[in-house]
Amino acid sequence: MPRVIDLRSDTVTRPTPGMRDAMARAEVGDDLMGDDPTTRALEEAAAARVGKEAGLFVPSGTMGNLVALLTHCVERGDEAIAGSESHICNHEGMGSSALGGIPVRVAQNDVRGYMQPAELKALARPWPRTVLACIENTHNRCGGAALTVTEMRDMTRAAHEAGLRVHVDGARIFNAAAALETEPATLVADADTVQFCFSKGLGAPVGSILTGPRDFIDRARLIRRMAGGSMRQSGVVAAAALYALEHHVERLSEDHANARRLAAAVAEMPHVRMDPAGTDTNIVFFDLVGVDGPEFRKRLAAEGVLCSGTSPSRIRMVTHLDVSATDIEDAIPLIARVLEGLPAA
Ligand SMILES: *Cc1c(COP(=O)(O)O)cnc(C)c1O
Repeated sequence: MPRVIDLRSDTVTRPTPGMRDAMARAEVGDDLMGDDPTTRALEEAAAARVGKEAGLFVPSGTMGNLVALLTHCVERGDEAIAGSESHICNHEGMGSSALGGIPVRVAQNDVRGYMQPAELKALARPWPRTVLACIENTHNRCGGAALTVTEMRDMTRAAHEAGLRVHVDGARIFNAAAALETEPATLVADADTVQFCFSKGLGAPVGSILTGPRDFIDRARLIRRMAGGSMRQSGVVAAAALYALEHHVERLSEDHANARRLAAAVAEMPHVRMDPAGTDTNIVFFDLVGVDGPEFRKRLAAEGVLCSGTSPSRIRMVTHLDVSATDIEDAIPLIARVLEGLPAA
């Protein structure tokens, strides 16, 4: 079978041999009974990496955000604020509203996913009581933009001044930190709670972590159980996440270099509209003009390069652990050839 270069998402990575070995050797127990040493070690290590007191291992980032909102918004009618382009508002089925009855009000994201501090303040109201602002970094739908330490601090400070707590949807916070040459803990220093994913750029098969103050995580643990997210011998997958924290953080800058190389090449191709300077991390977005996006993806897939589309004209390519610099060099002429051969739409 010819080799496939899969740029659909950084969630497609397969566990490496070293990771599988760590999973096979993991010490496990019943985590719901508090008996799984590997899960507990992961929760402590992951919380420490983002400078928070405690962590809660959850099956997905979506559940991490859901449990966070359900734990922050305790009274009926307590509402949260999230960005117009946020994952929480666009890709989670509005679970916190649908399942938890939590109203989510929308603040405008700019092209990089930044929200104006003044708008965050203006949205906060005493009744219904606004209790939480959610900030995303890197910003997925805004091209994987890495919001800076100053931007994070300004949004967080405004929310706190308005009496809100702050939850960071940091699914790819390690990508943001790598791009900005800082630590994840620095980016989220002022935030109350943080969720990040092991199953994206970090390359683990399953899982995310919700972190925050110990009393918050104690309450979140009960909410996770309500949501059906308590697990048993979760050490098998927690071991993969621990392995990822130890071995797959330093290499994220390789994904970013590959994404920049890809973006610079694609920006020069026919029918493409994009600003290559907009590629901060591992996500490359571009728009197709005058040709059909689904047809482009179909023809490119036939050449062995997979990508995704977020609208009929918008294409998304993501670099990750299973895509090498050579893969990118191989993909570039294939992308160019497909674009050149496309009929006008
Ligand atoms: C992927 C992602 C999530 C959710 O993670 P899942 O594990 O896919 O549920 C949340 N927020 C952002 C910004 C994401 O990119």
